[in-house]
Amino acid sequence: MKKKYFKIIVLSILSIFLFCCVAEVDPLSGKKTYTMLPTSQEIEIGHKIIPSAINENDVLYPDREVQNYIRNLGSKIATVTHRRVDYQFYIVNSSDINAFALPGGPVFITRGILLKMENESELVGVLAHELGHINARHHAKFLEKTYGMNILLSILGIALQGSDYASAVMSLAQVSAGLLQLKYSRDQENEADALGVRYTYKAGYDPKGLLSMFEKFKSLERGRTVEWLSTHPLPDTRIKNVQKIISEQYEGFRGLRQNSTEFNRIKALINSTQESYNYVGEAKKYVKQKNYNQALIFLNRAIEIFGSNQAYTYRALVNLNLQKYNEAIYDADKAIMLDSLYFNPMLIKGIAQNRLNQWNASINTLERAKNLVSDNPDLYYYLGVDYHQLGNKTKALDNLNIALKLSDGKRGWEPDAQRRIRILRGY
Ligand SMILES: [Zn+2]
Repeated sequence: MKKKYFKIIVLSILSIFLFCCVAEVDPLSGKKTYTMLPTSQEIEIGHKIIPSAINENDVLYPDREVQNYIRNLGSKIATVTHRRVDYQFYIVNSSDINAFALPGGPVFITRGILLKMENESELVGVLAHELGHINARHHAKFLEKTYGMNILLSILGIALQGSDYASAVMSLAQVSAGLLQLKYSRDQENEADALGVRYTYKAGYDPKGLLSMFEKFKSLERGRTVEWLSTHPLPDTRIKNVQKIISEQYEGFRGLRQNSTEFNRIKALINSTQESYNYVGEAKKYVKQKNYNQALIFLNRAIEIFGSNQAYTYRALVNLNLQKYNEAIYDADKAIMLDSLYFNPMLIKGIAQNRLNQWNASINTLERAKNLVSDNPDLYYYLGVDYHQLGNKTKALDNLNIALKLSDGKRGWEPDAQRRIRILRGY
């Protein structure tokens, strides 16, 4: 007990130093402010969430040219913003109509939203709005308000020691889910809009692109879900505010850019792979119904047209379920080759190797996967089984315990994990 109190006291002192006494200059007002979460730690938390954000959005669009385009365009806008953080820009495969940012710099655009855009100024408008959220520290404020110091310290690895590993993983899962569903307030939206319009203009683009996207979202909303609107509420007052800012501050400016040949080329490139993604979409429905043979037909068609990392991963998953383990490993490797930040194919490969009794190979794959996404319960279960089969009792117990802690109780392997833990403990 004493040891525990000592630890709490040490942690509290650490937290005071780390969180309460950090003076930073607020980039928007230019004034010195005291923040709980310093910029360096905000960036670090954002970094930790990147692989989860990529995986939950059907991973990176597998084309270097496309990624370079968004990176260059995004960086151009980032240079005119207030804060110097670690800006990163990605296009993910998801067909959702969405764009989002993480603390400290990462910005994501979905394939789905890009296909709805007609010119570069619309894309710049959306990117600049997301940069507005980062610059107004909306993510940092959410983290400070929502999570306790211990949780933030824990995911930063500061309180991470031995048995604390499980709680650090749980905290990261919690913060990751919170950030990926973060819904901004109306005031925050207005603030991000004002900053976004300013950045768009400063980068040399027509700020009306953002307004044209607003109109598009509103009309699309009548027929389907516009994911962007669920986290960025868009009341009519918001549209009026943006119109007002543009007419009062930027109306007279000439020579602002609306489009580029590069935008048209990138959009045409993404459009040309649309059919392949449609087949993956069909296959996903069959995967959900556990009709794996039918899913396989659609995935084969998808891969014939465009072998995306997403299509290969789904085929790997289908092959795993059809107990075709070598085929699953082949497809998973293809997906990993296209995108080394991709967690799901690594997990599938590790499970297939486990099923083939290749315990060491499975451990190698799964430990690599763990470096990307550390809060997946299946990962720990299979690692536990691998270590158990190899006779490494400590690691087997550690992993199986974490698996059960993270599990929602519906994974199917829980009874086996409990049985193994009883055996390992010797009763
Ligand atoms: Zn917003």
